[in-house]
Amino acid sequence: MSVADYMTTCLHHPEHGYYATRDPIGADGDFVTAPEISQMFGEVLGLALAQTWMDQGAPDRILLAELGPGNGTLMADVLRATATVPGFHAAADIALVESSRVMRERQRRALPGHAPRFCDTVQDLPDAPLFLVGNEFFDALPIRIFQRSISGWDEWRVGAADGALQIGLRPAELVPDLSKAPGNYTEICPAAEAIASEIGTRIAQFGGAAFIIDYGELESREVTFQAVHKHQKVDPLAHPGQADLTAHVAFGPLLRAARPAQGFGPVEQGTFLARLGLHQRADQLATRLTGDALNQHRAAEKRLTTPGEMGTLFKVIGLAPAGAADLPGLERA
Ligand code: SAH
Repeated sequence: MSVADYMTTCLHHPEHGYYATRDPIGADGDFVTAPEISQMFGEVLGLALAQTWMDQGAPDRILLAELGPGNGTLMADVLRATATVPGFHAAADIALVESSRVMRERQRRALPGHAPRFCDTVQDLPDAPLFLVGNEFFDALPIRIFQRSISGWDEWRVGAADGALQIGLRPAELVPDLSKAPGNYTEICPAAEAIASEIGTRIAQFGGAAFIIDYGELESREVTFQAVHKHQKVDPLAHPGQADLTAHVAFGPLLRAARPAQGFGPVEQGTFLARLGLHQRADQLATRLTGDALNQHRAAEKRLTTPGEMGTLFKVIGLAPAGAADLPGLERA
């Protein structure tokens, strides 16, 4: 099977799939995400969304949407931080794009009083100005991996040999256009491009904005397909259904797919959060803390923003209607 089919089965199989069978995020899970590290992440993003809403004339019915909300922490922080923005909550219907029924329950519990609407895909969102955020969502979407050969490109396939899963190569059929691929390897993510296209079309048509945060680079040039199991990197073929499978996000293809929406970024997460005032917010929270709590708070600030931690590996891109104001913290692509 293709790597994409392998990823889809491992992550989403209704009985044995990774998201169906466990609680992946947090200290007890396999990975910790930015909103789980500090409330400040969602707070500054919430204020950026509310600012963008005001910049676009404060439309009175909007969708405030999140892709793959995990434990629901980011949206809870967005809502808490924007509770005092006049008219924002009254205008906003909360929509969560989430495929896993287990995760939906978790998210419902994290958002008491907000009655979120759940959708399986962005296509299912109702038509309205769309103010959307997605953190560590695109990295979980299934990729295909191609490797240059003497005659063109081979595609990686997953198969069983000698009682174990192995990678094999097959001359690529129906290859997308890889003529501009910069390296000897390239990953493409058709699902990510389709979702970016849908979001871009909606934002161009109805108004709104998207902030997309993930680890990755502008273009794919190497194999980044990886598995994490109990906070350790493991062989992606070793624990099917029990390890989180991801790949770095290539932001260039997403920005191109989202046209005619105007693209912004990528900007490194540390720079973006600093521009949105995260360090000022950190200082403000610090005045109420002492001892271990203060140390943990400053460690979280550092983890989100410094190079070598999440500050440079993670990047942010944005989308907005072509004629709209620039997005907070980002510059035009
Ligand atoms: N955004 C969260 C965690 C992301 S983990 C955070 O920052 O903490 C990825 C999330 O996306 C999970 O909730 C998972 O169930 C969901 N997901 C993965 N693939 C999906 C798909 N194809 N469609 C909808 N949701 C998906």
